[in-house]
Amino acid sequence: MPSLPSALYTVQKLEIAVDKARARIETIEEQLANDEVVVARRNALDKIIKDYHHTQTTITDLELEISSLAQKIKEVNELLYSGKLKNPKELTERQEEVESLQRRHKTLESRLMTVLTESEEKNKQREAAEEALSEAVTNQKQENIDLIAEKESLQEQIADNLRKRKSTMKSIPDREYKNYRLLRKRKNGHAVAPLKGNACGLCGVSQTTSSVQDIQEGKSIIYCENCGRILASV
Ligand SMILES: [Zn+2]
Repeated sequence: MPSLPSALYTVQKLEIAVDKARARIETIEEQLANDEVVVARRNALDKIIKDYHHTQTTITDLELEISSLAQKIKEVNELLYSGKLKNPKELTERQEEVESLQRRHKTLESRLMTVLTESEEKNKQREAAEEALSEAVTNQKQENIDLIAEKESLQEQIADNLRKRKSTMKSIPDREYKNYRLLRKRKNGHAVAPLKGNACGLCGVSQTTSSVQDIQEGKSIIYCENCGRILASV
């Protein structure tokens, strides 16, 4: 049967290990839920696809307008050379109308060329973004395999440490455990310090000879004269 201070020291070691493993599992779960690289690349691809679709819509609209203008130009030209227009003023007006329509046609053609180039560029960007996303997804899968394995191993480790803790707890009276918990909270997670030589293993301050003897006997709880932690001979 271990002495009370050394049983408390064992429980502390196990509890610290469990806390640490639980914190790591929490981090792993966050990482599994949200891979920043994949999310960023997916957003980038979505934006490119949206821009690409926008250029496609503009192309369709421009092509429609250009084709309707061409039809209109053809009609006015036919009218001009039909011999139906006798009035010179009307002829001039129609002539000017054709010229204006042709200017508009030219502007739209040029705009169409620009948008076609943009669209091609977006398409290339889309291919690159798709590749980048797929690469990130592959990396994430590999990382996830590693993370899931680590999580499983931590869970086993926690279960094992909790079993050991339960068994050690049998030798610790409730009142002493309660005292230890309060001290642990106040002492930054370490209520028990191992005795190193004749000094406290945490603050390094030497203890009196009689204290050291009492600690080695382990019959009662002796506190460090400096930091107030329980000292255990381990
Ligand atoms: Zn101390």
